[in-house]
Amino acid sequence: ATPTALMVGTGRGAQLGILIKGPEVLESTRRVDTVVLDKTGTVTTGRMTLQEVYVAEGADEKQVLRLAGALEHASEHPVARAVAAGAEERVGTLPAVESFENVPGRGVRGRVEGHEVAVGRLFEDLPPELARAGQEAESGGRTAVVVGWDGVARGVLAVADAVKETSAEAVRELRALGLAPVLLTGDNRTVAQAVAEAVGVDEVIAEVLPEDKADVVRRLQAEGRVVAMVGDGVNDAAALAVADLGLALGTGTDAAIEAGDLTLVRGDLRVAADAIRLSRRTLATIK
Ligand code: ADP
Ligand code: MG
Repeated sequence: ATPTALMVGTGRGAQLGILIKGPEVLESTRRVDTVVLDKTGTVTTGRMTLQEVYVAEGADEKQVLRLAGALEHASEHPVARAVAAGAEERVGTLPAVESFENVPGRGVRGRVEGHEVAVGRLFEDLPPELARAGQEAESGGRTAVVVGWDGVARGVLAVADAVKETSAEAVRELRALGLAPVLLTGDNRTVAQAVAEAVGVDEVIAEVLPEDKADVVRRLQAEGRVVAMVGDGVNDAAALAVADLGLALGTGTDAAIEAGDLTLVRGDLRVAADAIRLSRRTLATIK
């Protein structure tokens, strides 16, 4: 390898907002044939908002919002932030939380005003009106968050995330580079499908628990695919590390930057295609 070509590559990379961890990284970009895209925060903005509140017959909407909002206030998850902010906006000051437990990939549980409250995907049985509300939300691409306490589901909150304006264009660019895009998410299959359709991805792997995301990457590798993974590090740092090429969105967490081979300083997904194009071109110059 000629050091000059590498320096040109990394210099141009910095201009484009791409930081390369080491020269050996470039080599892996040549063989990559699959790009796994994390959904929340990568394909979508991850800035979610509470859009709709449905309550079960006989349940009190204000109480659903107070208890859910109080509990979610203690979580950093984008869904939680949307619920807490939306609840506070609608009902004002939220009650204090007596105990709190995060259930990764599912939601939160804890004690509020003497009730054992659960928020997220933690109820098996829903009354028919809530099941319908949940399906309605999900078929529109929104996440259905079930709220209940003392073992009974009492409401569904519809939380919406927006697809980044540039994501569909980014997927077209990745395809033009001969790469197969795959959407990976812990979210519900219906929501994942709606987002995939909006950006032009046809391979969807949904309802994957955070700790299983790296295994999904390993499974694709076992099928003989060479995998690049793009993520923001919220739940996907391990998958970024396992991938043949980890692309960490610089707008994500420190964990992502640590785990990635390339850091994409621009939050816009088109930079992933830029990174692969630039690496390939730099390699061609070296050879
Ligand atoms: P993603 O893979 O899209 O980043 P996660 O694996 O973090 O998502 O979560 C998967 C799903 O679990 C979310 O879409 C949501 O339905 C539910 N969930 C996770 N955390 C929470 C929370 N704090 N409150 C409500 N629901 C949650
Ligand atoms: Mg994410």
